[in-house]
Amino acid sequence: MKILIAASEMVPFAKTGGLADVVGSLPKALHRLGHDVRVVIPNYKQISHARYLTDLPVPMDGHLETAIIRETSVPVGDSEVPVYLVDNYKYFYRDHMYGHSDEGNRFNFFCKGVLAMLPYLHFQPDVIQCNDWHTALLPLFLKVRFMEEPFYRPIASVFTVHNLQYQGRYSPSILSQLGLEDKYFTPEELEFYGEVNFMKAGLLYGDVINTVSPQYAMEIQTKELGEGLDGLLRKRSLDLYGIINGIDYDEFNPATDKRIYENYDRDTLERKKHNKYGLQKELNLQVGDMPLFGLISRLVGQKGLDLVAEIIEEVIHTGAQFVLLGTGEDYYQNLFADLKVRHPEQVSINLGFDAALAQKIYAGADMFLMPSRFEPCGLGQLISLAYGTIPIVRSTGGLSDTIIDYDSQTDQGNGFAFTNYSPLALLNTINRAIHLFKKDQEAWGRLMRQGMAMDFSWNQSAVKYVNLFEKAIYKRKQHSRAI
Ligand code: ADP
Repeated sequence: MKILIAASEMVPFAKTGGLADVVGSLPKALHRLGHDVRVVIPNYKQISHARYLTDLPVPMDGHLETAIIRETSVPVGDSEVPVYLVDNYKYFYRDHMYGHSDEGNRFNFFCKGVLAMLPYLHFQPDVIQCNDWHTALLPLFLKVRFMEEPFYRPIASVFTVHNLQYQGRYSPSILSQLGLEDKYFTPEELEFYGEVNFMKAGLLYGDVINTVSPQYAMEIQTKELGEGLDGLLRKRSLDLYGIINGIDYDEFNPATDKRIYENYDRDTLERKKHNKYGLQKELNLQVGDMPLFGLISRLVGQKGLDLVAEIIEEVIHTGAQFVLLGTGEDYYQNLFADLKVRHPEQVSINLGFDAALAQKIYAGADMFLMPSRFEPCGLGQLISLAYGTIPIVRSTGGLSDTIIDYDSQTDQGNGFAFTNYSPLALLNTINRAIHLFKKDQEAWGRLMRQGMAMDFSWNQSAVKYVNLFEKAIYKRKQHSRAI
């Protein structure tokens, strides 16, 4: 199968969150299954060493602009996955990947560049997988602008929702830049509370749609977590699937990870504590065997940081330590500043994006906090499991699909989970974990090993994606015949 994956970020080139991990690792798994898979992302400022391929004209609001196409690759064993980069200095040569006033137009340009690039490459994918709102225009462009062109007509599209909250909403004036007539500005099309909603384009025009866990696929069809799009998602429920993300165990493996203080595996778990001591030293915390809680996250409302802020002092008073790594909204950045001042030897607040420190925390912490308000899949809990660090999660979305609450009667489970979105529920769950940690190190060791033994690699999920792509291709063929 010929597959193109289009996305706004990809490890190792550009990352702000889990999307980049997925786009970095899913293509490798698809490649290993024998498919011709390629990826395309924007050429951000921090990306270097890509080979220049060509300049192509792209229509933008009545005039032509230039998409510079570059090429690089990521290795997979002895082989590689090609990665194309769509470039234009005006849109992508900036210090930050996101958060610009012309965001809609940047990704409008990107999507047009992606489609313009394909004939030049003589690459006609059977399917394009589009990820989140940044690439949601692709299914629409394929169907409404390129339908008559024999090259594009057979190409199927899959739209994957990694997070329904970010929808790409812009004023109606963007329609002309997209090259769309006013008839697309209705509630049945892209209109959404007076704005143009890019995500709707993917949800409406993707041949099939999916999200990153079965539980989240159900939740987004409810008013509570549907972000205003639950009605549309219910309408498309027969075409809506949930596939849990995997992680790349080549990258997230405590036995080989070069970024951590000391390597270990299930049989040498006693070495894990040297990662804790190393982390404590590096972060100027008191060195010792007290329980250490890690939290690595984008600092945004979704992640349940308000719950943590309410109860963490009480946890600290039991003698535990808390290490946070994150970047995001000012409000959440400031939430823990006082805590550090009051407990300098027990608290470390690291505001920034630091992939190496993240690994040291996954390896050095005893427990990992993820009390999310909602969580499409979540990777932090899966990485924690791989490092023998026990996840404490709120059962929602992918967290509820992957973390089974520990049952002391049966010794079953791989973490600690609670349901009610309340500080007390989180505190009780943390206390249960601390109790086991302090009172029964043997059971704790079994819990760690149980988590480390779990396989959340891409092997199974990549096969599910292939099935999904086949469904989309089948639907596309039927549709083409019907016209
Ligand atoms: P989301 O995609 O909502 O941000 P996920 O749990 O799916 O959440 O993925 C987050 C990914 O980003 C994980 O790999 C996590 O380790 C990483 N991450 C988040 N914040 C930081 C940070 N400040 N520094 C380094 N890595 C981070």
